[in-house]
Amino acid sequence: MTDSATASRQLDVVGAIRAKRDGSALSDEQIDQLIAGYVDGSIPDYQMSALLMAICWRGMTDAETLRLTQAMVASGDVLDPGTALGRRIVDKHSTGGVGDKSSLALAPLVAACGVPMGKMSGRGLGHTGGTLDKLESIPGLTIDLAEQRFIDQVREIGVAIAGQTGDLVPADKALYALRDVTGTVESIPLIAASIMSKKLASGADAIVLDVKVGSGAFMKDIAHAQALADEMISIGKGAGREVRALITDMSRPLGRAVGNSLEIIEVVELLDGGGPADLRELVVESAALLVELSDLGLDAAEARARVESALASGAARAKWDEWIHAQGGDPSATLAVAPVQHVVAAPSSGVITEIDALAVGVAASHLGAGRQTKDDQVDHAVGIVLQATVGDHIEAGEPLMIIHARDEQAAQRAEQEVLEHVRIATAGMSVDAAEATSVILERRG
Ligand code: URA
Repeated sequence: MTDSATASRQLDVVGAIRAKRDGSALSDEQIDQLIAGYVDGSIPDYQMSALLMAICWRGMTDAETLRLTQAMVASGDVLDPGTALGRRIVDKHSTGGVGDKSSLALAPLVAACGVPMGKMSGRGLGHTGGTLDKLESIPGLTIDLAEQRFIDQVREIGVAIAGQTGDLVPADKALYALRDVTGTVESIPLIAASIMSKKLASGADAIVLDVKVGSGAFMKDIAHAQALADEMISIGKGAGREVRALITDMSRPLGRAVGNSLEIIEVVELLDGGGPADLRELVVESAALLVELSDLGLDAAEARARVESALASGAARAKWDEWIHAQGGDPSATLAVAPVQHVVAAPSSGVITEIDALAVGVAASHLGAGRQTKDDQVDHAVGIVLQATVGDHIEAGEPLMIIHARDEQAAQRAEQEVLEHVRIATAGMSVDAAEATSVILERRG
């Protein structure tokens, strides 16, 4: 019997569940033993499910949430790229949304500023896209980098994005799978511990969090987004890391493109100096924060100037090419194109006041851009590209979006799914008021 199995036998698991059910805080020892016992299999799913549900109802104190995060980190490998590279490591995490390709632009941009950016990313599930799926739409590119190749690539060219290497936070893998099937995902301490445990285990010294709020995000309202941001900032402080959070709008898709290859094209447009204003604003702001938090010793204004100059000079685009090439991809390769491009016309004239992110994400996923189950293959070519967005004035009959689909039937289904969630106001909302809405709603930390 392992030490932790012995420990969890000594733990009164039912007593811990009852205590949390009745609103008491768990001790450090209880939390450590519960996590170790669940990972080694000595605490069964039914007891952990009961505990998770009690946490959903009763919450956790900041101290409990920090300890939970640390116990989860201790369940697996802990990487230390900072020592290997001799640099302070900055990292960024988005809580996920529709059309969120910002990490793909940020990584080469920050690297072009002289700050190493080695990121472990995930795949999409449901209506949200995943950075790895998007990258894999580039022919030849691999996201399977062994730990040493990952570190060497970051040392040599300053940037790498890969799937997870090593056995990081096995407690999160087990707990997340259980939460997914027991209605216990929606808990701020559990989400905060899940996200932050992975950031801490991958060795980040400073972290920029993009906490999304709106229909296409986990957090549907600003109060919950603020609470999640604050909880993650508090965990970071407790673990001796610097954390800044941006709360950003996910009531509509980020940028114009939703779908794997289509989003890569938009990233390249941005790195070439174009791209949609909202995506550019978020990427520049996040990159400036990462550069400010790095070991370059720049203040906020200097960091922003460095980022803007790396974009304007073409250095960020050159870094993209170098990076894609290093991971086996051809930066000039033609990406997969869907056989059908179906133009959706605006049904009326006026100012667009809503293009619902969730509806666009679900429709893109149904086209094949996302997965319904973990084992599904994504179709890199399909998706939706908005031709106008919230705040724009549009005339009836003008192109509102282009649906990239495998066949006309799939395109028409997607059109129906999205059009039900588009609002065009003929009166009442001025174009200026709509255009003034920034994607960054708040800064915290
Ligand atoms: N993302 C995570 O990594 N964990 C959660 O619990 C929710 C979102």
